[in-house]
Amino acid sequence: MTFADLGLSPELLKAVEAAGYTEPTPIQAQAIPAVLMMKDVLGIAQTGTGKTASFVLPMIDILASGRRRARMPRSLILEPTRELAAQVADNFEKYGTNHDLKMALLIGGVQMGEQVKALDEGVDVLIATPGRLMDLFERGKILLTGCELLVIDEADRMLDMGFIPDIEAICDKLPPQLQTMLFSATMPPPIEKLSKKFMDNPKRIEV
Ligand code: AMP
Repeated sequence: MTFADLGLSPELLKAVEAAGYTEPTPIQAQAIPAVLMMKDVLGIAQTGTGKTASFVLPMIDILASGRRRARMPRSLILEPTRELAAQVADNFEKYGTNHDLKMALLIGGVQMGEQVKALDEGVDVLIATPGRLMDLFERGKILLTGCELLVIDEADRMLDMGFIPDIEAICDKLPPQLQTMLFSATMPPPIEKLSKKFMDNPKRIEV
């Protein structure tokens, strides 16, 4: 199995080559084609398995066409901590150098002004922690109705940190035709329940 077998565009194959990866990891081999086919994906995978690239790479290809609109992010990635959010942003920068994608990071402990300005200019990829996202939503600074793709990353850590009510509130505001990816190292009952409520017949990948 090579990256070229997964259906990624030539631009992304170049980015993968530049990163020095010779073959996809097991989660990448299974998740990338499924995401490109617009399927929901439930990935049971730890950090270190290459799970970040398994959603970042196909998302870049999907988002490469289409138009940005003010306050309406085209995709949303929820992360439990600022550090993880920043790491995912680094991945989009690393793999997305050949693409003109606008990204914004909504994390706590940072002034809101710059974040609101970025949202007003339109973003393709919004990477957020749930608390700050809800805060800006309640202030009317963000509209979730134009969102096409959602990633809930490290779902079991979100549970430990008490973020599930915020995630449910966010999911309720997203459009029904949304494509959802959920990643978790373990699947405790509340995460299983969340996936059943908000995902549409997901491809389950366990590595
Ligand atoms: P992650 O599980 O997403 O935190 O990724 C763990 C590490 O694996 C990161 O440092 C990536 O740069 C690296 N990585 C991701 N995909 C591959 C691959 N196909 N081959 C080698 N390294 C990879």
